[in-house]
Amino acid sequence: MPDNIHVINHPLVQHKLSIMRSKETSTANFRRLLKEIGVLMAYEVTRDLPVETRAIETPLTAMDAPFLSSKKLCLVSILRAGNGLLDGMLDIVPSARVGHVGLYRDPATLQAVEYYLKVPEDIGSRLAIVLDPMLATGHSAVAALTRLKENGAGAMKFVCLLAAPEGVEVLSKAHPDVQLYTAAIDSHLNDHGYIVPGLGDAGDRLFGTK
Ligand code: URA
Repeated sequence: MPDNIHVINHPLVQHKLSIMRSKETSTANFRRLLKEIGVLMAYEVTRDLPVETRAIETPLTAMDAPFLSSKKLCLVSILRAGNGLLDGMLDIVPSARVGHVGLYRDPATLQAVEYYLKVPEDIGSRLAIVLDPMLATGHSAVAALTRLKENGAGAMKFVCLLAAPEGVEVLSKAHPDVQLYTAAIDSHLNDHGYIVPGLGDAGDRLFGTK
């Protein structure tokens, strides 16, 4: 596996993902599980954040205690399914700033079309963690990362739940500087750009729109 690709094969993540894949899983459970996986993935993605020690006093004594150092976070949700991961991540990094990128896939060309973009002005001084549960063709991810760079983003990580090999390749080629985190790399894309075996349409399953 190339250095920039991280497959999070923690048993808790894998177990929850398997339940999400099942077509029998309800919207409520799908949403809850995606949020829980968001918490667990936030733990992995923030593993290498720099820390610095500061002097504090416990009730017993003085000590130098580790705190996150100045690099701050910006979570960027690719609408709409990114919001499912965002909720869990915000639970454990509540002070992170949040950006949103709205993209839809043109069903004929499968290309990403942007309809919304709003990110913090100081995104360049933050680590941007970009969220989209499904890395399928990679077109939306590449478009989102490109637009974020045009809007001043510097260091970025991309977090998805499931990836197709095609999407991993497209993303790695277009943005080799971006670290990619996923819970699984599935077999392939079908003719409609869906990940196989996958879990279906993440947005529809998250919001119950189909
Ligand atoms: N988007 C989804 O929601 N599911 C897929 O399988 C591919 C893209």
